[in-house]
Amino acid sequence: AKGGWRERLRGTAFARTFGGLFQGNPRLDDDLLDEIETALIIADVGVTATTDLVEDLRKRMKAREFADSSALLKALRQDLVDLLAPVAVPLRIDAAAKPFVVLTVGVNGVGKTTTIGKLARRFKGEGHSLMLAAGDTFRAAAVAQLQTWGERNGVPVIAQGQNADAASVAFDALQAAKARGTQVLIADTAGRLHTQQGLMAELGKIKRVMQKLDPAAPHEVLMVIDGTTGQNALSQLRQFHAAVQVTGLVVTKLDGTAKGGVVFALAREFGIPIRYAGIGEKLEDLRVFDAEAFVDALLP
Ligand code: GDP
Repeated sequence: AKGGWRERLRGTAFARTFGGLFQGNPRLDDDLLDEIETALIIADVGVTATTDLVEDLRKRMKAREFADSSALLKALRQDLVDLLAPVAVPLRIDAAAKPFVVLTVGVNGVGKTTTIGKLARRFKGEGHSLMLAAGDTFRAAAVAQLQTWGERNGVPVIAQGQNADAASVAFDALQAAKARGTQVLIADTAGRLHTQQGLMAELGKIKRVMQKLDPAAPHEVLMVIDGTTGQNALSQLRQFHAAVQVTGLVVTKLDGTAKGGVVFALAREFGIPIRYAGIGEKLEDLRVFDAEAFVDALLP
């Protein structure tokens, strides 16, 4: 399904304020620009991206490029799409990598386990053989959740006892996937340990241990980010990126109470590909990130 974005994102602060702002053809003046600036900041777009966007519109308004406010809205739409287009790069599974290893990272509660289930379902649907590694050994419930999911869907899950060494689980899983010729291995990791430093050290170790078996692994370090956490998402990404070099993002919970704009801030600050967007709790609600569909869902 390609549709449904607008319906899911219409509750965001972004969609609501812009809907109001452009109701009844507002006058094209500096007040409108100020209101747009405030709306972008409130919607979590972040100061840097907001300043870029508003300054571009101001310059073009002064050059009399816009006949009316709807022409300005069109220009804003294009600027927003241009900001996201470079990061709207889908994840491609390299069939030559056996397995193609996706290391999933992110803090607890962001939707990591749910996303792994949705991804596994998607990859399976695309005909790939699959294995999961229950690497969140800090939380017994996370291991059980993956195992249940794997049983229900006929996907092997590599796990060890509670409090097992996460790097050892990852190593075992990669070895098993190699032996079986599995196409995709998705490895879960902890989202919280006793200390933040401990967590980053563990993630680094998981990566290094995998590289003993395959120097190219993990092929994707996929960070799951909760779209409702606002600017805090940026500091989370900064921290994980410093530890394990994040190569792709999933932004979840963009439906519901998200403000919607954090995706632009992430794109502007990091330029890391946004692979998927979570716009609901159902399996089909994990969408390949589409810059135009996303922007069009936020604007009137
Ligand atoms: P984890 O701790 O990161 O593994 O988080 P979970 O996978 O257990 O998810 C936490 C909650 O977020 C669950 O209730 C999920 O159903 C919910 N969730 C995950 N993704 C989305 C999404 O895109 N939209 C909404 N509305 N809820 C989501």
